[in-house]
This record gives sequence, structure tokens and C-alpha cells, in this order.
Amino acid sequence: MRSNWIYFILAFSLSYSCDQSGKSEGPNIIPEVSFVSAPNFNADSAYLNIQKQVDFGPRVPNSPAHDHCAEYLHGKMSGYADQVIIQEFDSKSQSGEFYRFKNIIASFNLQASRRILLGAHWDTRMKADKFTEDPSMLFDGANDGGSGVGVLLEIARLLSQDSLSIGVDIILFDAEDQGGLGLEWCLGSKYWSNNKHQSGYSAYYGILLDMVGAKNATFPHEYYSIQFAPSIVDKVWEEAHRAGHSRYFSYGKGGAIEDDHYYVNVNAKIPMINIIDMIPDGSNRADAFKSYHHRPSDNMDIISKETLNAVGTTVVNLIYRENSLVL
Ligand SMILES: [Zn+2]
Repeated sequence: MRSNWIYFILAFSLSYSCDQSGKSEGPNIIPEVSFVSAPNFNADSAYLNIQKQVDFGPRVPNSPAHDHCAEYLHGKMSGYADQVIIQEFDSKSQSGEFYRFKNIIASFNLQASRRILLGAHWDTRMKADKFTEDPSMLFDGANDGGSGVGVLLEIARLLSQDSLSIGVDIILFDAEDQGGLGLEWCLGSKYWSNNKHQSGYSAYYGILLDMVGAKNATFPHEYYSIQFAPSIVDKVWEEAHRAGHSRYFSYGKGGAIEDDHYYVNVNAKIPMINIIDMIPDGSNRADAFKSYHHRPSDNMDIISKETLNAVGTTVVNLIYRENSLVL
């Protein structure tokens, strides 16, 4: 496997060396060389993973596209992970319609007690309800849903080619994006956080990816991420900046987003942050999301390999840095 050096720091620490009599000889400069290597995140592969989901059609609940995409994700993850669990659950809409959902949970290195949780939602909202010309229209959800999953499938591929000391769990949550359409928001994470796939499951921390593929994306500090897991936000943003992706990872403030990480924090008690495309410091706006949000323009035309690379590289580098700490 090819590796890229995340960083190579020649650190000089000031110390005192002593002779056998314990007498100090004064300060010496001792060089410490520290490095972490990680595999290269392939943005082409992440892009194709998104295209594949979009090709099924909008993955709206109870549709053939939703069924076919679930099969595809299950098959892909089964080829990569040490274990894949499909967690089925259901919900009734306000109008009495019965919906069946699936969380897809892929685990790597099951024996490891120190684990990192990665998540994204894979469903597509049932309507482009911000599209005033025709709010009942379906849309592709290339970014909203597709991109996070596309990045995580590529990370799963990389993890399958290596054996790490830490454990990684990837949860593809269903039914995140149906709120206000007769169903609640975040049904998949609500269900999982109250019915974990393994009793007593926990993770050191979690990272949620939501809308991580649009051209010129900006990821500000989402409010709940800062409330629940400020040190994880620092860690991820530091990693992004170290890899040269400051352009995307903003230090601006993001609004409070009811997203899957909220329920993982509140119900599962696992600190989880959200990398989500929003307008930094946009709280005074009527809508702090970007113009493609819940509109037909959320299609492959807005997906950028550069953005996918920025997010994927940041997360992969961080996983390998965490791994280097337990070796
Ligand atoms: Zn959405």
C-alpha cells in the first residue's frame, strides 16, 4: 500500500543529561523524530461511490432505489469489514404509512477496545421541499446523504487493506432526512443510540459526515459539536489544517443542527462531532445551509473531488494518528 507522510516533525526538547554521579552537565538538545503514515485517500473512488448511489435514484424510504442501495451498501461493506450488521427498524408516519428502515453497521478490528465511530446518513429526503417551483420534486441527494457514504466506503476500503490496533465502526444511518414530512428527523441514530448493535458498545469518540462533497464547501464549528465534544473538534480541525485543508475547515461558528451526532451524544453518551457544509457565522440568515440544500441542484454537478479529498484525507490521517498512539 502506498503511504503518504502526514507530517514529519523534528522536535527538539531541552533536557539535562547527567553523568553516573548524577552531576548535571547542563542542557543538551535531544532531537525527537515523530511521524505518522497513512494510506492515500482516493477521491476518484469516493466520487464513484456517490455516483453509484445516485444511479439507483433518490433513496427515499419504501422505494425500490432505497432497497437496492441498501443491498449495494451491505455488499460493499461486507467485502471490506470484519463484521457487518444490518439493524432493521420501522416507523409509522403521521398519516399512518408504515416505513421500514435499515442501519448498516460495519466494524473493523472487533477485538480492539479503543474504537472510533464514523457515521453518515444514506437516505435521501422524500421531497426537494426548499424548491419553491415544485417542492414535491424528488432530488438526487448526491451531497446530502451520498457524499458522506461515498467517503466512508472509501475509508472502509483503505481499512480493509491494513490491520490497525484501534477499532473502527462505520454506521450508515437510515432515515435521517425525513423530518417535517410526516416522520421525525434522525430516526436511524435515535434507534441505534437506544438499541446499540452490541450491548455495552462504546467508542472513544465519533465523527459524522453530512454534506461533505460540494464544491467550495465550508465546515464551520457546528454548535452541538462544540457543546458536546470541543476537544474532538479541535483534533479534527487541527488534522485538516495540518494536511493543508484550511480552506474548507473554517473556524467560524455553525448553527445547532439536529443531526445524527446529536442522538449519539445524548442517548449513546459517545462524544461525536459533525462535519457539515454550512455558511460560517451564518446564524443571522434565514437559512445557513447552501443553495443546493433540499433542492434538485443537489446532484453530481456540485460534487467536487477536491472537497472529498479534503474530508477523506483528514479523517484517514486522524485514524492513523490515533492508531500510532496505541502501538
Ligand atoms: Zn438533508
